Amino acid sequence: MTDVLKAQDVASQIYLDANATTPVLPRIADVVSHTMQVCFGNPSSSHITGIQAKHLLEQTRSKARQVIGAASGEILFTSGATEGIQTAVVSTLIAAKNHDKKKPVLLYGATEHKAVPNTLAHWNKVLGLGAEVMAIPVDRFGKLDLDFIAAHVGDALMICTMAVNNETGVAQDLDKLEQVIRAHNPDVAWMVDCVQALGKKALALSDTTIDYAPFSGHKLYAPKGIGVLYIRQGSPYTPFIAGGGQEGGMRSGTENLPGIAGLNELFSLLNDAASDVFKSHDTLEGYRRALADALEDTFGKITFHHRFEDSVPTTLNFSVNELTSKEVMDLFDAAGIRVSGGSACSSGANRSFVLDAMGLSNWQSENAIRMSFGPAASEEEIAEACKRIRALKPILAANCLVISDSATSGQEACAMGLTQLRHQGACCWLYVSAARELVVIDPIVELIPRIEKLVVNQGLKTVVVLDTHIHQERISARALLQEILMPDVEEGNDLGWNGPVTLADATLERVATPGHSEDSVSYLLRQNDKVAYCFCGDLILPGGLGNTAIAGGDAAKMYTSLIALAEKLSPDSVICSGHDYQQCFAINWQTQQQQAPLLKRVVAGAISGEEFVAEKSASDDTLQTEKGVLCGYVDNAFSDAHAELDAATAKSKLSAEPDVVLLDIREPYEHDATPVASLFGIADNRVLNMPLSRMADALTKGLISPDNSYVLLCRSGNRSRQAAVNLRLLGFDKAYNLKGGLALLG
Ligand code: PLP
Repeated sequence: MTDVLKAQDVASQIYLDANATTPVLPRIADVVSHTMQVCFGNPSSSHITGIQAKHLLEQTRSKARQVIGAASGEILFTSGATEGIQTAVVSTLIAAKNHDKKKPVLLYGATEHKAVPNTLAHWNKVLGLGAEVMAIPVDRFGKLDLDFIAAHVGDALMICTMAVNNETGVAQDLDKLEQVIRAHNPDVAWMVDCVQALGKKALALSDTTIDYAPFSGHKLYAPKGIGVLYIRQGSPYTPFIAGGGQEGGMRSGTENLPGIAGLNELFSLLNDAASDVFKSHDTLEGYRRALADALEDTFGKITFHHRFEDSVPTTLNFSVNELTSKEVMDLFDAAGIRVSGGSACSSGANRSFVLDAMGLSNWQSENAIRMSFGPAASEEEIAEACKRIRALKPILAANCLVISDSATSGQEACAMGLTQLRHQGACCWLYVSAARELVVIDPIVELIPRIEKLVVNQGLKTVVVLDTHIHQERISARALLQEILMPDVEEGNDLGWNGPVTLADATLERVATPGHSEDSVSYLLRQNDKVAYCFCGDLILPGGLGNTAIAGGDAAKMYTSLIALAEKLSPDSVICSGHDYQQCFAINWQTQQQQAPLLKRVVAGAISGEEFVAEKSASDDTLQTEKGVLCGYVDNAFSDAHAELDAATAKSKLSAEPDVVLLDIREPYEHDATPVASLFGIADNRVLNMPLSRMADALTKGLISPDNSYVLLCRSGNRSRQAAVNLRLLGFDKAYNLKGGLALLG
């Protein structure tokens, strides 16, 4: 661990995710709090307390006009941008109900926040408009296709564009857009989502023909739950919320006065040319350059997904050429830097539709990182962020994540023995013998650069690259990897097999194990005549059996294969499957049987071939319909609540019981970036870094023992929970999970 990271207080996070949300500035929080406690009146009340509240409300409205350049038109307080978008869309579509267009369309930019197309589609359906909701394409740089707009806006009932994109910071040229839109349709309702433009771009809305412009307070240091909608004078309007007639009947419900007071203070700052709270464009550009330099120095090959000259200076969207976004996020998280993968606003998405629309590669879209700061960022914060990013460089090098100039001793731990590499639930296994001979099983295309680096950095000699079967859900990387790692060696059969392999400390044999597919084989790695590892592809999956209801699947053959394997395995042979949906990482033959009752009955001779076929086929059919998993299923949901400790209990356990070991199950690059021992006030030698990817290796080598007591730790408590439960299944009765992980350590 570097000194910088050791010294760092992990609680002092560097927050670089301002496009998702921002902290409330202390002076804004003061005003909000004052308004809740002192100036708390209801603006509709006629007494003095109410009048004061009303004054604050109107004063804020007038400051908003100044900030967004809206001398005319309406300024409405909303709960945020999503409500502003609803209001604009509903108002427009209700007004357009009796349109006379033959093929009406609702246009929106392809990179728009999902609130926009989803709202258009929703109200189009609810109001029965029957319009086509149509995305306006963008070019490689995220700019809207003006020719497309020119061709379609004539049929449009509404067009929605955004001033600044939340993932990339790309700003649209609103003047050009206006020219094209109005040249082809002077009357169409035009909404511009201005959420990410506030405080970053000058706006003069009432000088334009923009009809609606939503804003949101929490994107610029004001609280969540307050926003503003600008409505051009004369544009259609239907109240979205009816009730007591507040906001002149345009938006009922008692006003969120504390939020409005927060906006009041924010707008004062934005209007105050003498204030230095918000930095100048040039200063912010300097910050972005500094961060970009630190990233390039640290990670080497980086692709920025947008042109800096086209985007606001507070956003950087990039991918590290050979690291997944998860790895980069984990690293940043361990170093106390908060960034986001893709768009934090669209939860659940693991690729970016914004980058897809820009035509970027799969890799870039799946592995994008967004780093964003607010315009009130300070030079010190950015300098600290750069320092922490640079401090990751030796950690990356020591963990073979980036090709380093020289081999360091830390690399030794990376590859000797067995390592599980994963990509989206699929597993690739590496075995490195004592003489640095490498066996690769079930390689995955996305992992090729990683494996290549490992081979180069650690001086490995590739002996064989194998598949357990032709995978139906993905293209095999075997031939390609073999070509890269061992170009002079003759190709084996379709799965890469050239005959039994003898390594310095192990042998590898092949057994035909059809069942999941006709060509399925298992590879048995023997050490001292015992099968240490069984690479069985999708014949057996942790806690279950492979699917037989796919092309080439055959339950009768699976039955025979399982019996054949059972004769060769011992209870502690580690089962290394082609998928690990349960995130078990290590399961031995004995536990596997306990977890898969059907398998247990086969091995015990308690079920005939016919019975097995009937049961397996029936369960495959239901599970396939219910879960839609191609390769296999895990029948049982692991759960074991009592194995969880909260942070306080874990800390007191560690201090009261000197034999308890803190097992950090994160990858070494994450572990190295966090001062784990000092966070728990224990000596360094009581912390063991045992990443999940090396759990199977640790089990066979006896690096962890069921006799000992462990508290398992990861970032969020999820991975470690799975590992603790799994260890308990393996007989580790004193394995406990730290609930909430580092995140809830406090
Ligand atoms: N539009 C953009 C560009 C955004 O970034 C967001 C943020 O999530 C929204 C709309 C939605 O804003 P709100 O959270 O205020 O509803």
